[in-house]
Amino acid sequence: AAKGGGRNRFSYFTPTLQVAALNRMRLTNDLRGALKGGQLALYFQPIVHLRTGRIHKAEALIRWNHPQRGMVSPLEFIPLAEASGLIIEIGSWVLRESVQWVRRWRSEHHPEFQVSVNQSPLEFQREDGSYQAWLGELQALDLPGQSVVVEITEGLLLDANSAVSNKLLQLRDAGIQVALDDFGTGYSSLSYLKKFDIDYLKIDRSFTRNLAPESSDMALSDAIIVMAHKLGLRVIAEGVETAEQRELLLAAGCDYGQGYLFARPMPADQFDALLKAQAHEQAQQQALAHARE
Ligand code: C2E
Ligand code: MG
Ligand code: MG
Ligand code: MG
Repeated sequence: AAKGGGRNRFSYFTPTLQVAALNRMRLTNDLRGALKGGQLALYFQPIVHLRTGRIHKAEALIRWNHPQRGMVSPLEFIPLAEASGLIIEIGSWVLRESVQWVRRWRSEHHPEFQVSVNQSPLEFQREDGSYQAWLGELQALDLPGQSVVVEITEGLLLDANSAVSNKLLQLRDAGIQVALDDFGTGYSSLSYLKKFDIDYLKIDRSFTRNLAPESSDMALSDAIIVMAHKLGLRVIAEGVETAEQRELLLAAGCDYGQGYLFARPMPADQFDALLKAQAHEQAQQQALAHARE
């Protein structure tokens, strides 16, 4: 924007801003069609139990394959979905889709498997029928609430209103677990960890990235893990990219890791194959152990 040059010359309608606004409008319009047009896909990224190396959970991450632009990042289109209200429709699609997959994975590969689903503050704060419908869907498929983890961010708890507290209680009643995403990037007021019933802390990637022995991010991660455990929470480290990071996190007592070291987010059928391979490998190991006895 035109900075300086006096108040009278300030204009919001510089060409670049206009282009950006138009771009957002077009993309929002396209997003409306994307749901119906089958351009959205749900990818899954393994969440690995650090001590055993087993995949216990997956985070569901949305993808948009735009017919002209190719893959559009959720970092770009989720804000547009929030601003336009489309997030509600997209959110229910994500939930429905996740439930179908977790059902399959629990019955075929891993009876306690969980899918972790991101929710925007707008979705989470909403009190309405669609959420009830979704809970009903879990029940109809005979799935326990424990099949799903809902990921929310710190900001939501900071200015928590009664809608937020109610929703957290409802989730708890249904057995659904809650993870605090990107922990450490927001205001990190620790009092809400005591106040609200949270099950998992996800240490933000910005801490994992700079992990090294004796580093300040190591000290912070150590402290977060100790505190979380004392409060009865499990810890998931985001953005684990190197074996060294995994070792340091394991030594610090971190429970789970997620990141490119293990796998990138992948289409559901690929994830299905990965879980199948893991189950197969485990069965073989068990058979071997049995034979040795
Ligand atoms: P998030 O929930 O913090 O998700 C983790 C992000 O980190 C994902 O980006 C994932 O691909 C990326 N990531 C995982 N491991 C690594 C790693 O080792 N290194 C690096 N550099 N990155 C890693 P993605 O898929 O682009 O999603 C971005 C954000 O979009 C998510 O951040 C989440 O806030 C939002 N999002 C994604 N799917 C949904 C959804 O279904 N609903 C809502 N409301 N938001 C979503
Ligand atoms: Mg997340
Ligand atoms: Mg995150
Ligand atoms: Mg994030």
